[in-house]
Amino acid sequence: MQLLYGFLLAIVIATLAYRARSLSKSGAVAAMFIGTIIFGIGGWQWAVLLLTFFITSSILSRAFKNRKQGLNEKFSKGNERDAGQVFGNGGVATIFVLVHALYPESTVGWVGFAASLAAVNADTWATELGVLNPTPPRMITDLRKRVEKGTSGGVSLFGTFASLLGSSLIALLAVLLSPSDTLNANYFLLITVAGLASSLFDSFLGATVQAMYFCPTDQKETEKHPLHTCGTETVHLRGWTWLTNDWVNFACGAFGAIITIVTF
Ligand SMILES: [Zn+2]
Repeated sequence: MQLLYGFLLAIVIATLAYRARSLSKSGAVAAMFIGTIIFGIGGWQWAVLLLTFFITSSILSRAFKNRKQGLNEKFSKGNERDAGQVFGNGGVATIFVLVHALYPESTVGWVGFAASLAAVNADTWATELGVLNPTPPRMITDLRKRVEKGTSGGVSLFGTFASLLGSSLIALLAVLLSPSDTLNANYFLLITVAGLASSLFDSFLGATVQAMYFCPTDQKETEKHPLHTCGTETVHLRGWTWLTNDWVNFACGAFGAIITIVTF
């Protein structure tokens, strides 16, 4: 019965998000799939955490539009999240709700689920709010080096603070809504720190091994491939070609869950 409610809630959310242009068609189908599993198997506490991530990141990606002008040509995708982004951000959380279904007595399912969402939420908030930093970001692998806003691997004080806030919001909900009462304030700190660390790990991957391209027309670095926003074919600049932004997000979620589970 819960699975049916989960399916219905997932359809409603995915349809609203598609209508609001927060999700593309493939993104809506992927969200329906992930939503059904998480709402249907986990229940309402799990739904609240997932929706907190989903709704705040959809809102933040629309906010401060004028500050983000010109950034879209850098990011591999625009505001409408597609299936790759949905699985990249929600894939690890989905795995942990399945872990919970297999081991309902263990807290590992909930903790891994919450920590992976804290990680992707931290990363999304940092990306979306980091643009408000008054000065250009610095490269995480070389903090003396300033880079253009929106560059993968760029970090700023404002972005890092946003990341800490994004992570702590999910951590707070994880403790308040925990199905087991063994989760205490220590978990709040642990999940918050793990989320922040994962977002920095995401930036580190972005600066080192993530696939990066170059647009010869605009003479700009971009994640877009094969075509840039201007229509020019982009050429491979650095990184592993299979390691797209979606896989980096997946790695970010996995990193958060793993370090939380091994630490607690
Ligand atoms: Zn171009």
